Amino acid sequence: MFIELETELAALEAKDLRRRLQTVEEVLPGGRVRVGGRVLLNLSSNDYLGLSQDPRLIEAAHAAARRWGAGSGASRLVVGHLALHEEVEARVAALKGTEAAVIFSTGYMANLGVIAALTGPGDVVLCDRLNHASLYDGIRLSGAGLERFPHRDLNRLESLLKESGSARRRLIVTDSVFSVDGDLAPLEELAALKDRYGVWLMVDEAHATGVLGGRGAGLAEALGLTDAVEVHMGTFSKALGSLGGYVAGDRRLIDYLHNRARSFIYSTALPPPVLGAVAAALDIVAGEPEPRRYLLEEARLFREELAAAGLDTLGSETQIVPVLAGENAAALEFAARLREQGLMAVALRPPTVPPGKARVRFSLSAAHAAPDLAEARRTIIATAREMGLTV
Ligand SMILES: *Cc1c(COP(=O)(O)O)cnc(C)c1O
Repeated sequence: MFIELETELAALEAKDLRRRLQTVEEVLPGGRVRVGGRVLLNLSSNDYLGLSQDPRLIEAAHAAARRWGAGSGASRLVVGHLALHEEVEARVAALKGTEAAVIFSTGYMANLGVIAALTGPGDVVLCDRLNHASLYDGIRLSGAGLERFPHRDLNRLESLLKESGSARRRLIVTDSVFSVDGDLAPLEELAALKDRYGVWLMVDEAHATGVLGGRGAGLAEALGLTDAVEVHMGTFSKALGSLGGYVAGDRRLIDYLHNRARSFIYSTALPPPVLGAVAAALDIVAGEPEPRRYLLEEARLFREELAAAGLDTLGSETQIVPVLAGENAAALEFAARLREQGLMAVALRPPTVPPGKARVRFSLSAAHAAPDLAEARRTIIATAREMGLTV
């Protein structure tokens, strides 16, 4: 049997698709890491505000552990629901501007739990092709019909809405910031369509929570569409620097999830140190808009300079900036050359992206100093030119 696994791995290797773990030996200030004995500017992390290293989160995690312990001891409905969970959920609801919120152990588990609770056989979930894998896994688990529409293709979505009228319940699901292209969902248009066809809208704000919107609540807040979205989902694992997923919305939705979301019911509650860190991160996001302004301003500069130099940034509008390389081998070589020059960025290959659209993705963070980002832009542009990746 292991021979079969080895053969499959060799086949991946032959297509430049084999993945390997790399060890981060040290996390350093300024959004840097030491890998393979070398210090690199980390342009691969989702720690968009640098909060994972913030002393206030670290101290809050310690304090919560001292007061409540290292673990929560049970699942939420048994006896694992600490006052700390309640406090974090109240703060999430306040940030999102909704009646209530519920937290899950990860964003992945939130998506599994909420989609499988809300839909089942006989229902239809309409899903943007570039949505996160956890949304697809939730749909598969639910047994609902899956209707994928091409990325941000509203015409195709509308046809699917017309064709699926006989379904019991219908749910449109979209990321708000797409992690492979760094672009945004057309949320206003999606909200109009869901009204017209009387279906529900779920928005995954994993990459937008803490980054977009006046309060940092995400794209729905930024566009004034909070009340147009039935299911707000996001994570504490990216800009909030810690771990956990949330769903926010109507009180009845949250009560229903307490009763029906299996990944909530049958899993141990998040541990106190994580909750302490999340509570501190929520305070910081609420009180300090400056880091997200800096991040978005640096991201705009990054996209504009790369595009002006002839690189294809694939329509990015956010702190996630991909650069198209084309073939898998080209993306791998681009990433390897950048790494030689002190930049850590990942090559994204199929099945994460369509064949022939392999790319290197850069994720910016407020932890990165402006001069380091300026130098990174020069290195990226010079390397892309050497490789003939400019248009
Ligand atoms: C990262 C991510 C998730 C999963 O969140 P985790 O907290 O890492 O499990 C879900 N949806 C999207 C769009 C993501 O980017």
